Amino acid sequence: MFWAGGDPAQTIAELTSLGIRSGQLGIPGDLPLSCAPQWRDALRAANFRIHTVFAAYKGESYADVPTVQRTVGFIPPATRAEREQRTLGVSDFAAVIGAPGIATHIGFVPESQSDPDYIAVRDMVRRVCDHAASHNQTFALETGQEPARVLMAFLNDVARPNLGINFDPANMILYGTGDPIEALGILAPKVITVHCKDGDWPPAGVAGALGKEKALGAGSVGIPRFLAKLREVGYRGPLSIEREASDPARRMVDIRSAIALIADLKA
Ligand code: MG
Repeated sequence: MFWAGGDPAQTIAELTSLGIRSGQLGIPGDLPLSCAPQWRDALRAANFRIHTVFAAYKGESYADVPTVQRTVGFIPPATRAEREQRTLGVSDFAAVIGAPGIATHIGFVPESQSDPDYIAVRDMVRRVCDHAASHNQTFALETGQEPARVLMAFLNDVARPNLGINFDPANMILYGTGDPIEALGILAPKVITVHCKDGDWPPAGVAGALGKEKALGAGSVGIPRFLAKLREVGYRGPLSIEREASDPARRMVDIRSAIALIADLKA
């Protein structure tokens, strides 16, 4: 999982130097979407495949739980219309580069199906699904911010065949949402793609605190049991490593060791 923003050819060269041949491309909220043809050409030249294009939005912050609730995804009413247009634009970007799917964090979905925010977001997800379907794309919701049963009820209520999940086991831990392996058992039929990411639970007794993201294998997910569970539920899609460490050198070291860990476990 990597981000657009830098020179496309150089970004892809960094990934192929690690032996990676495919991945998920994140689009920062302020990136002009007119750079799609440059990405298409660079991907083609390197024979590099994009499984998913991720949309992020201007003004989002993942500082703590209340900030996520206030700023992330489709939930904040003030930015809803603007973010809907942006998501449709990201779907068009994905069509230009030939990616089969888009994804985003929609934010904290309210549990009550009669909540006006729930209804507005459900209808918005339907419109995004329908636009994505016009490009033959799937639309995946990133997991983590709500328990598996709430997310499953939401997916069933949206009722669009191209809607699914990008399952991130670490997010379930970082947000204190529930055991990710158990959640994967429930959500498996809807999982389109996954993030191989690790992390530790939030500190006890600190209201609204998030857990801490860790290098793959160093957190509380239990990567061997995660991969075993993916196999058990019949998942055969890509394993996308996500590492959010802010220091780029650290990030590359951790991605290298994550690749080695996954190769070991697969063997
Ligand atoms: Mg993720």
